Amino acid sequence: MRTGIATVSISGNLEEKIEAIAAAGFDGIEIFEQDFIADIRSPRAVGQRIRDAGLDVMLFQPFRDFEGLPGALRTKAFDRIERKFDVMAELGCDLVLVCSSCHPEAVGGIDRAAADFAELGKRAAARGLRVGYEALAWGRHVNDHRDAWEVVRRADHPNVGLILDSFHTLARGIDPETIRRIPGDRIFFVQLADAPKIDMDLLYWSRHFRNMPGEGDLNVTAFMQAVSATGYNGPISLEIFNDQFRGGSPGTIAQDGYRSIVALMDEVRRIEPEVALGLPELPAPVTVRDTAFVEFAAQGADLAALETLLACLGFRRAGRHVSKSVWIWQQGDIRIILNAETEGHAGTAWNARGTTVCDIGLTVGSAADMIARAKALGVKPFSQPLGPGEMPLPAIRGLGGSVMHFIDDGALAQVWDVEFLPEDGDERGVGLTRVDHIAQTMTYDEMLSWSLFYTTLFDMAKAPMVDVIDPDGLVRSRAIATPGGAFRITLNGAETHRTLAGSFLAGGFGGSVQHIALATDDIFATAAALRERGFEALPLSPNYFDDLAARFDLSPDTLARMREENILYDADGAGEFFQLYSRPFAGQLFVEIVERRAGYTGYGAPNAPFRIAAQKRLQRPKGMPSA
Ligand code: MG
Ligand code: MG
Repeated sequence: MRTGIATVSISGNLEEKIEAIAAAGFDGIEIFEQDFIADIRSPRAVGQRIRDAGLDVMLFQPFRDFEGLPGALRTKAFDRIERKFDVMAELGCDLVLVCSSCHPEAVGGIDRAAADFAELGKRAAARGLRVGYEALAWGRHVNDHRDAWEVVRRADHPNVGLILDSFHTLARGIDPETIRRIPGDRIFFVQLADAPKIDMDLLYWSRHFRNMPGEGDLNVTAFMQAVSATGYNGPISLEIFNDQFRGGSPGTIAQDGYRSIVALMDEVRRIEPEVALGLPELPAPVTVRDTAFVEFAAQGADLAALETLLACLGFRRAGRHVSKSVWIWQQGDIRIILNAETEGHAGTAWNARGTTVCDIGLTVGSAADMIARAKALGVKPFSQPLGPGEMPLPAIRGLGGSVMHFIDDGALAQVWDVEFLPEDGDERGVGLTRVDHIAQTMTYDEMLSWSLFYTTLFDMAKAPMVDVIDPDGLVRSRAIATPGGAFRITLNGAETHRTLAGSFLAGGFGGSVQHIALATDDIFATAAALRERGFEALPLSPNYFDDLAARFDLSPDTLARMREENILYDADGAGEFFQLYSRPFAGQLFVEIVERRAGYTGYGAPNAPFRIAAQKRLQRPKGMPSA
């Protein structure tokens, strides 16, 4: 399998794009004409530069409004493409994409278009070039790959083939299975793009909202399965028009693109094992069994405050590291690690952000498989010098400077006994059992990268995007979870610093964990135990509880206790959800305590606006004197 990406998919000038594409691991590049025209170098120099970067010039695109033109317009179209053939020869590119015509004077008719392509094939062959025909979803007469294929079939010239683009097929709801009928050697090129399901004009949707395979809602996997079944063995290339990507970091977007292709083709290989894709084998998406630990970097007064909070939450100090200023706090299956080291990753994280979650540990089936899959997806392994008595725990670099460690049933499971000296802390818990979910805040532009990171590495599925209304702006939220819910992440994308999530970002130099949610089997018993320990819940508006009484069939007794303990409530078709929040600590971090009943799968999203308003009330009211 050879991978490619269109220059239009990422930001920067042509040189920056070439560098980012080569660094991400692609084999080739599609030159989008505008990127080339904007460059100052000659076609020959650009072609050489691309090859020097280790990339093939796979495709030159797009050539528009070619087929079906009458008289002088037809002659002009042929003259125009001959000029492009000149450029291609200089660039060292042998394939041009001709997209179906949108010209107002183009005349329909399969045979008429086929005749134009037969003639074009002759001219291309004379120069050693090839022509690929792509059906645009909004083409004037041809807007379906089946019609484009019929044009190519009737043109019957070896230098004329079909170009498939997953967006154009899937956006129009055309069954990708129809691709299986096309001979693989007549397909010259395959472009991939996903997109969120939005009901809008096809052209506008395509030009602004495409995203990487796996980031959207289109069934790109089914499309690629059908393509693979034809025996096609040409390049698989990304052609992504996306407003966010145009303004994003070229390196990150190129990396995401490469990751999305590798994960997609791996998925296709698993579903259609009989299809030979010439792919290196990589371990399956990893099953996460549980959150092994959440580690905070904290020092000084913040460290003391965090210790007080953990004690108040019923955690006991269970161990101290053999050689470092690191402690384990434990309750049920939850391990919180406090790391006060001034050096290494935790020290760096502390310097950059202050008190922060610097590391997440996950329990997986095989840590070795985990690392192998991560490497294949272009995720960087993480390591730092080991201190005395430390075990090398496999780890990767997440996004935004985050780190994830992995523990499995092998020798790694011994890490707690090997690295930590037990301490006899207070044993009284408040009934917290495990980590329910971890909530990460990031800019809205970074959300797709994060969701791709989780869904390609792990066996996790994404829930639909939810809008969360902050009094000062909108926050988009998306949950990603393993099938049984053993590991759940919520991603919160802020667009303005005025939202609670946005001000967290502004204060912390980028995205990171803003809250962790801990599970209990009995939230009322937990709330009572917490109160006894002096825990102060986030105080909610009385109006919230009046509204609950109107919306849900809750007993007056239950409702009174919820009001008293500041417990929020939600229900879905399956079950019920109870939530309780801490007040903010160390800036804008907070802890949530949840009880899920009878298979509730959400995160209490309808309550988020009231929780955020309550959190903002605790901050200094706007325009009010501070005293
Ligand atoms: Mg295309
Ligand atoms: Mg939450």
